[in-house]
Amino acid sequence: MPIIVKNTTFPSLLDLLAPHTCRGCGRLGTPLCDCCKKYIIKNSINFCPRCKNPKTTSKCKKCQNLPPTYFIDERSGLLNQLIHDYKYHSIRALAPILAELLATKLPQNLPINTVIVPLPTATNHIRSRGFDHTAKIAKSLAKLKHCKIQPIFLRTKNTVQVGSDKKTRLTQAEHAFTLNPKIKINPSATYLLFDDVWTTGASINAAVKKLRQAGAKKIIIALLAVSRLD
Ligand SMILES: [Zn+2]
Ligand SMILES: [Zn+2]
Repeated sequence: MPIIVKNTTFPSLLDLLAPHTCRGCGRLGTPLCDCCKKYIIKNSINFCPRCKNPKTTSKCKKCQNLPPTYFIDERSGLLNQLIHDYKYHSIRALAPILAELLATKLPQNLPINTVIVPLPTATNHIRSRGFDHTAKIAKSLAKLKHCKIQPIFLRTKNTVQVGSDKKTRLTQAEHAFTLNPKIKINPSATYLLFDDVWTTGASINAAVKKLRQAGAKKIIIALLAVSRLD
């Protein structure tokens, strides 16, 4: 295996040297083997992130205000383990794998003018993890779906959502990021908002609101996982 010398920070070198084991079955060589990948895709459930009702399409009949939403599965079991290992143990090799899983849930052909918009990660999280976990998956997803990425949102401060109650999170989210003044919203483009996990939906809802206010007409949401608990 060729070692990429361009990015030789300590954790990524470890990634290359330490043998991965499949989080699902323990098989050596990859953090998720093809069998376990198929297992996740086959056994995933679809429901509305907001009202939690089961749905068969990307749109919820009840929550018309919510743009079409796609995600791999509910946040539990193996998928939850993968996201945890990716974010908190910096297993960077999981980025293309998680992107691939998500791509199987998205429409095969996205509208031609689709732009991927990653939700910005708090800078203190980037520092402690050594990389921007959302941006890294967005990059893999952009490659798979042949889309561009635009950093439309900028973090305004280090808002930490962990542990806050729902109401506080909603207010925090509204102020946590702002539109990048250098980027003009194109009303004919489709904006694919990407975030890792829907917990209360505060960040995504704030992002949708800001995009709409700025003139975006077509928005879709893509997430790795959705929490079934409110
Ligand atoms: Zn496996
Ligand atoms: Zn709903």
